[in-house]
Amino acid sequence: SLQDKLDKALHTLKGKGQITEINVAETIKEVRRALVDADVSYKVAKDFTDKVKEKALGQNVITSLNPNQLMVKIVHDELAELMGGDSEELNLSGNPTIILIAGLQGSGKTTFSGKLANYLKTKKGKNPLLVAGDVYRPAAIEQLKVLGEQIGVPVYAETENKNPVQIAQNALQKGKEGNHNVIIIDTAGRLAIDEAMMNEIRQVHQTVKPHETLFVVDSMTGQDAVNTAKAFNDVLDYNGVILTKLDGDTRGGAALTIRTVVDKPIKFISTGEKMEALDIFYPSRMADRILGMGDVVSLVERAQEQFDEEEAKRLQKKIAKNTFDFDDFLKQIQQIKRMGNMKDLMGMIPGAGKALKDIEIDDNAFKGVEAIIHSMTPKERQNPQLIDASRKKRIASGSGTSVQEVNQLLKQFSEMGKMMKFMQSPGGRQMMQAMGK
Ligand code: GDP
Repeated sequence: SLQDKLDKALHTLKGKGQITEINVAETIKEVRRALVDADVSYKVAKDFTDKVKEKALGQNVITSLNPNQLMVKIVHDELAELMGGDSEELNLSGNPTIILIAGLQGSGKTTFSGKLANYLKTKKGKNPLLVAGDVYRPAAIEQLKVLGEQIGVPVYAETENKNPVQIAQNALQKGKEGNHNVIIIDTAGRLAIDEAMMNEIRQVHQTVKPHETLFVVDSMTGQDAVNTAKAFNDVLDYNGVILTKLDGDTRGGAALTIRTVVDKPIKFISTGEKMEALDIFYPSRMADRILGMGDVVSLVERAQEQFDEEEAKRLQKKIAKNTFDFDDFLKQIQQIKRMGNMKDLMGMIPGAGKALKDIEIDDNAFKGVEAIIHSMTPKERQNPQLIDASRKKRIASGSGTSVQEVNQLLKQFSEMGKMMKFMQSPGGRQMMQAMGK
């Protein structure tokens, strides 16, 4: 009904107060659950949400949002910030640049080495050389050769040599001779962390002095990924993390925990077996994925984009002075409409989607109201008292509505004015507080 529409407009105008311990308690719980579901350890999830909540308390919610929605957005932004804010590039300053790839067997090292070579060749105009350093698994050498052929990048391998340090040294020499400006060394991994493997990779690392040491980890291993990340970091002090197998349904919480535990940036994510399935890591996108609440985040972003804070302050002043008029009301309606399709917007709100499913909110909801206001003269809009019987008739015929509809709008507008005035009064504010806003 028209009343509902006016209520909604009024609600938008008023905003909904502040973020308080009580009004976001449920949301915080939900966010924590989402994080744990995404394989973030409980402790990291709890510390994180506690910290974010602390920060958000008291924040004003002045847009057409509610505290819960704003809270999700704040959590999202903090999450992205924690995972590094912006994406971080590789250091390609060496001549040649030496990149060492480390990780457990099966994590996707060899596949990633191929992808990285492909990326540097096609996107960065480099001339890479791949080095097969997995001396224990003949199949790994073969695998790298196949990939190299596929992407047109040469592979250096010594099938008979079992000394990875020597192979790496020989490969550097070979790289210089062949004018390769990037040398990517794939290394041997084991199924679990073991001392011999760590010693070996430490030696290779000390010998070749890589510009970039990248640790590859399977995102599907969840909490285990964190222990592995830590063990490798203790030995190699690597520069970046590569999360693989994100094409599965894992939510990627390991990204957050690894970042928290080793404080190293995630540089790439791997999303499939094809050579092209490599993406730069974007913290904001990963935050969407981990939270699984991307829709709310985009709703808030859209609302924030459309919301003009200056205008809101101006309107609040007008309400306080009881000079809110039909022009202001029209602006308010337009703002709501600018936010996009009403039903789409409502559908993005968790919980509300279901409740609203059967209610028809069409984009034309305000059409009649707008038409009536448009048919008023500027003077009438600013001073509705002027609107007498003959003006009502003129407005009705101008807007294609009836005098009855014009009357209804005028009546509701005047009631709304009274209500706004009341809400600005001490008694009204008390009442709003009592209702928990
Ligand atoms: P390595 O032992 O660390 O060298 O691991 P591999 O590169 O041989 O990868 C192990 C397995 O995982 C292979 O079957 C790869 O095809 C597969 N793999 C690697 N990266 C991805 C990925 O991003 N997505 C999927 N779905 N599979 C991957």
